[in-house]
Amino acid sequence: MKNQEQTRYHLSESDIPRFWYNMNADSPVPPTPVFNPVTKDLITKDALEALFPLPLIEQEITMERYVPIPEEVREIYKLYRPTSLIRARRLEKVLDTPAHIYFKYEGESPAGSHKLNSAIPQAFFNKISGTHAMTTETGAGQWGSALAMACQMFGIDLEVFMVNASFLGKPYRRVIMETFGAQVFASPSPRTKSGRSYLEKRPDHPGSLGIAISEAVEVAAESGGKKKYGLGSVLNHVMLHQTVIGEEALKQMDLAGEYPDVVIGCVGGGSNFSGLAFPFLREKLKGEQQTRFLAVEPTATPSLTRGIYGFDYGDSAGIVPILKMYTLGSNFIPDPIHAGGLRYHGMAPILSGLYNAGLVEAVAVEQRAVFEAAIQFARAEGIVPAPESAHAIRTAIDEALDAREKGEKRVILFNLSGHGMLDLSAYDQYLHNGMTNGAVSEAQLDGLAERLPKVNLPG
Ligand SMILES: *Cc1c(COP(=O)(O)O)cnc(C)c1O
Repeated sequence: MKNQEQTRYHLSESDIPRFWYNMNADSPVPPTPVFNPVTKDLITKDALEALFPLPLIEQEITMERYVPIPEEVREIYKLYRPTSLIRARRLEKVLDTPAHIYFKYEGESPAGSHKLNSAIPQAFFNKISGTHAMTTETGAGQWGSALAMACQMFGIDLEVFMVNASFLGKPYRRVIMETFGAQVFASPSPRTKSGRSYLEKRPDHPGSLGIAISEAVEVAAESGGKKKYGLGSVLNHVMLHQTVIGEEALKQMDLAGEYPDVVIGCVGGGSNFSGLAFPFLREKLKGEQQTRFLAVEPTATPSLTRGIYGFDYGDSAGIVPILKMYTLGSNFIPDPIHAGGLRYHGMAPILSGLYNAGLVEAVAVEQRAVFEAAIQFARAEGIVPAPESAHAIRTAIDEALDAREKGEKRVILFNLSGHGMLDLSAYDQYLHNGMTNGAVSEAQLDGLAERLPKVNLPG
């Protein structure tokens, strides 16, 4: 008999997945080519090897359906995996909805978010490839914290370029990274050519993810192979690592005796959403399920709902490989909203392709409505969510209210990608100082197609 009152659905350590799931093996959308940012020709393995170790490059291009998770990685996953699947019964009551709301809680990770799911394997595959030092960027600080912890565990030095607005506004994230042994620099920084060029234009530059990526990549590219670069989202291998979320959730929904009608996640570069959604999308593509997939972005960085699908640089200075993605343009500087992890101009190529093919839907939500949902959720469930994750909560609540209106029993599953205990200044601002919504102006999108780099398509 299923326990009708159960709230948390637990798995044991032996249920931690032994394989990552590769969406490219089943996606009806073929993988899109990647171009060298300098020559605009197809990228070579050599160019990628300046930045990434070989095993991660192989994961980037593999068409194998399942990629084994090394035991060394599973051992560290055991510090926090499997994460809980929780039925938000108290929120359901507050909303007076017939919908059943479940969330996968990735904030149980010691680094505070899902980012550790990819940080651990990235550090591991670098370690076994002989890497002693890495560089990376961080927006709100979640990715930097995760990679700092993982690098510490594998004895790799780490330099983090942290978006200046967050460096100033989230000092405790910097302290966590330093506690784990990383060196943290505000970006733009005087340490790199690209950083100096932005500082010349504006000494108090707030920075952006795109700029911080340029700096981290520049340091790795100019290290003569000594330093490798790690990216916390967007790339195929990051989507791959994050599928542990969805594989666990499939088993946990089974324990609950239900199956989601809709799967929801917030999207910055797309990794936490994809990590939850892809295993469920695999089941749908088998023809067995009718699930909808809903990606939620801020109105301040609406790459899916307002961007265009084309080839663009992954960074602002134009030194990172060119990917096919939904993009707002690599020089896009978004409104300074509090969900720093969502302030990225592009979207993961795999997810972009699925969205373009109509297999995934997207919606953009405004910042004040997001915090209203975050606080409603915190008061009902006792968890203060990360501002990024609260975008998913907003949309989950909207789905639950829509189900109430239509008198439907709808099963909703969303990803609570992280906790917000280091984002309290954002809550303070919402509660006491007024908050803006964040939007794009038409001027920012003007002539976007013409501004994208022209690549040399083969054939
Ligand atoms: C980084 C981050 C995100 C956004 O990145 P994705 O790659 O889209 O998942 C979302 N939530 C949290 C808590 C984050 O730290």
